[in-house]
Amino acid sequence: MSKTAAQLLEDVHGEIARACKASRRDPADITLIAISKTHPAEAIVPLIEAGQRVFGENRVQEAQDKWPALRAAYPDIELHLVGQLQSNKAEEAVALFDCIHGLDRTSLVTALARAMDKTGKRVPCFVQVNIGAEEQKGGCAIGGLPGLLDQARAADIPLAGLMCVPPFGIEAAPFFALLAKLAQDNGLAGLSMGMSGDYPTAVMLGATHVRVGTALFGSRD
Ligand SMILES: *Cc1c(COP(=O)(O)O)cnc(C)c1O
Repeated sequence: MSKTAAQLLEDVHGEIARACKASRRDPADITLIAISKTHPAEAIVPLIEAGQRVFGENRVQEAQDKWPALRAAYPDIELHLVGQLQSNKAEEAVALFDCIHGLDRTSLVTALARAMDKTGKRVPCFVQVNIGAEEQKGGCAIGGLPGLLDQARAADIPLAGLMCVPPFGIEAAPFFALLAKLAQDNGLAGLSMGMSGDYPTAVMLGATHVRVGTALFGSRD
């Protein structure tokens, strides 16, 4: 028989606790973000019922379709946007999300600042770094990080920390360590790193937010 949502959640919490013990960290310092993209409300509700409160989606439209009803039923949900954000969706994103993980370029700083000024809602943002310097990947170049952070601070965008998605198929630990160093050098406390395949490693290297989808919901089609 397949595991229940509560069992899967317990397994992930167990892995986080183990990684915390190995690195002398406090599990209370790690936020588990359940990445529910592609999964319908029926798959999400059991996880909410099991106690999970922080969720993440990667598309504004999909989140708009799914979450207003769920949030009406469970008002204490926290919703994060992970992944790429188009500037023309900035206002919708600011209205819908409690945290945005994909701030990665000048034009998006401008769009988000304008959206936050207009709505009067200031949403904490993680700056995404293209940590493996990959051609096709989102995230700002490492060299461009200080300038982007300055711009975001000047625009009064609350900075939650740094976020990365390391290159696929190779050991992630060196990239996590590099992101942690960049955060430290730039005076940022938050580190959004680690997915189903590597979140225990990310926790041992300082993650404050892990983004876990498959390990909680099963594989996506
Ligand atoms: C889908 C996604 C995740 C979750 O990935 P899993 O491997 O399913 O845990 C984490 N972060 C981002 C940015 C994603 O798009």
